[in-house]
Amino acid sequence: MKTIIIGGGIGGLCTALALQHHGIEAVVYERTAAPADVGAGITLWPNAMKVLYALGVGASVTAAGARLTRSRICTASGAPLYETNLNELEERCGAPVVAIHRAALHGILANALEPGVLRFAMPCEGFTQDAHTVMARFKNGATVAADLLIGADGISSVIRRQMFPAIQLRYSGYTAWRGVIETADESALGLTSETWGRGARFGIVRIGQKRIYWFATHNQAPGDTPAPEAQKAQLLDIFGTWHDPIRQVLEATPATAILHNDVYDIPPFTPWTQDRVTLLGDAAHPTTPNLGQGACMAIESAFVLARSLKTEGDHRHALHRYETERQPRTAWVTHTSWRIGAVAQVAHPAASKLRNMLVRALPQGVMRSQMDRVAGFDVTNRKIVDGQ
Ligand SMILES: Cc1cc2nc3c(=O)[nH]c(=O)nc-3n(C[C@H](O)[C@H](O)[C@H](O)COP(=O)(O)OP(=O)(O)OC[C@H]3O[C@@H](n4cnc5c(N)ncnc54)[C@H](O)[C@@H]3O)c2cc1C
Repeated sequence: MKTIIIGGGIGGLCTALALQHHGIEAVVYERTAAPADVGAGITLWPNAMKVLYALGVGASVTAAGARLTRSRICTASGAPLYETNLNELEERCGAPVVAIHRAALHGILANALEPGVLRFAMPCEGFTQDAHTVMARFKNGATVAADLLIGADGISSVIRRQMFPAIQLRYSGYTAWRGVIETADESALGLTSETWGRGARFGIVRIGQKRIYWFATHNQAPGDTPAPEAQKAQLLDIFGTWHDPIRQVLEATPATAILHNDVYDIPPFTPWTQDRVTLLGDAAHPTTPNLGQGACMAIESAFVLARSLKTEGDHRHALHRYETERQPRTAWVTHTSWRIGAVAQVAHPAASKLRNMLVRALPQGVMRSQMDRVAGFDVTNRKIVDGQ
């Protein structure tokens, strides 16, 4: 079976790797001319790390990133609201929580593919299909035929728009910024934290020996990204009086290295498939970043899709099985993440005070079962022993 994957993000690369493990031929067509050097980090929860171990890259990802041991939520003044012991989560789930620079993760996944599988500078414009084949069309005039096409081309997927033009993105009400800095500041390196203010949040996550990743969110209308210095000034304006080392982290980030994205998702939808074509990752189930699960879902989906294609003889059965298995899980994550975002981004002073009181009073057992439902989910049914 010959498979075309449109999009060489985390979802597309993991799908190619999972198919490679099953001996299924796949080629990834990525629109950018070179590997993405995204200046941001990403947190990979045990549900995704289990897949990466099953695909043979878990140890490299863990070594290239930082294993997180605890995380906390606090107020803008630094008062603790909630602390989670991630060592315990790792023990319960059987895999670590790892934060890593996105470019490092992309590099590990790309290097694990056989030569020639990942092709750059191939923006796809659409596809046609008949009873026997599917044909992808590229901007440079090239066409490629295969048995299957997987649209892993992100939240603004060209493939999804062709299949289901009525589906619209849903704006969350908040925008996000991200950055990565090298630092020797132990207070920043020791923190895995999310700070909740009114209609704004700031997170710090260690992603290496001397490296941290930060993210920030703020309630505002979606729109263009301002000039770099104006954008940095806006961030200092919103977060500059928050607890240490938030101001220092922002000041240490070059204005031009700050990434800005308005935060969207799509309310869960089905189907994802039209005969020989299906969707994966953000193309199928984009979610807000409040659970840190968007890429983790893409990684889980990649594993399940490859397994379905391996075990089902007929592609229609395989894609139906993939979609049936993945839709409830991803829909639950999208809904849950949306609701957490609504609570975390509360702006009214009285409502945010009440929210803080409730979070402080949250029983450990409630939070633990919620975290286990998210991060303890295991599509591989596999225990990791001695990091393997
Ligand atoms: C602020 C923020 C923080 C986040 N933090 C986390 C986190 O901590 N953990 C987590 O798991 N998730 C996180 N996410 C979500 C995560 O980034 C996404 O879910 C993940 O990147 C989705 O991967 P993907 O491969 O499906 O799509 P993408 O990463 O969007 O990749 C799509 C790829 O397709 C290519 N492409 C697009 N169109 C075409 C075309 N026409 N032809 C060819 N190629 C094309 C693109 O260039 C890109 O390389 C976060 C998201 C945001 C916004």
